[in-house]
Parts: sequence; structure tokens; C-alpha cells
Amino acid sequence: MNHTGIDIRQFEAKLLALRDALASTEDAETDAKRPVELDQSSVGRLSRMDAIQVQAMSAEAARRNDIKRQRVATALTRIANNAFGLCLECEEEIHPKRLEFDPTLLLCVECANAREQ
Ligand SMILES: [Zn+2]
Repeated sequence: MNHTGIDIRQFEAKLLALRDALASTEDAETDAKRPVELDQSSVGRLSRMDAIQVQAMSAEAARRNDIKRQRVATALTRIANNAFGLCLECEEEIHPKRLEFDPTLLLCVECANAREQ
């Protein structure tokens, strides 16, 4: 059974909106993943370094977005499986305020703290 203390549909809508928002950033990321072209005629050494640095930052942002997309997909699967809002470790209901802050959280505050230590 999903979390009983929250409006699941509301969280589902929020997660779907998040998924759409993340999907729309994907095109920009595809460009960023292309290798930096070495074109000495139009690009000097310094700007090539800049290009590499910009690309590294884009790649990092893309990696973070991949993780976010994965987390959103997991949360949506958990809604489908009637396990949304339940802690993965102890199966207690995660505090609604915590889920409002981040609907992709999978642990209650106690288990999240225990894991960090
Ligand atoms: Zn827990």
C-alpha cells in the first residue's frame, strides 16, 4: 500500500512534471557530449581549454540529470507498485514534509541519518 497520509495523485503529477522538465534538457546535453573538436585555425589553445572546461561542466550536469531522471523513474515505479512514500529500509511511512521537499526520497529521516554515519 502506498503512503496513506499523502495525496499520491498530487505527488504523481509532480513527478511527471519533473520527468518532462528533465526530458526537455536532454537535447542540449546530447550536444555537450560530443568530443571537443581540435580546430587550430579558428580556435586558439586557450579557447580550446575553455571549450574542454565548459564541456566537462556540461557533462557533469548531464550526469546529475541522468541520476535525477533515474530517481524520478524509480519514484513513479514505486507509485505503480503501491510502495510510494515508504522507507526502503524500515518500510515506515516517510514524513510528508520530507516527500514534499523531494518526492524521489526513498528513506525515512532515521534510516537516511543511519546510512550517513
Ligand atoms: Zn526507515
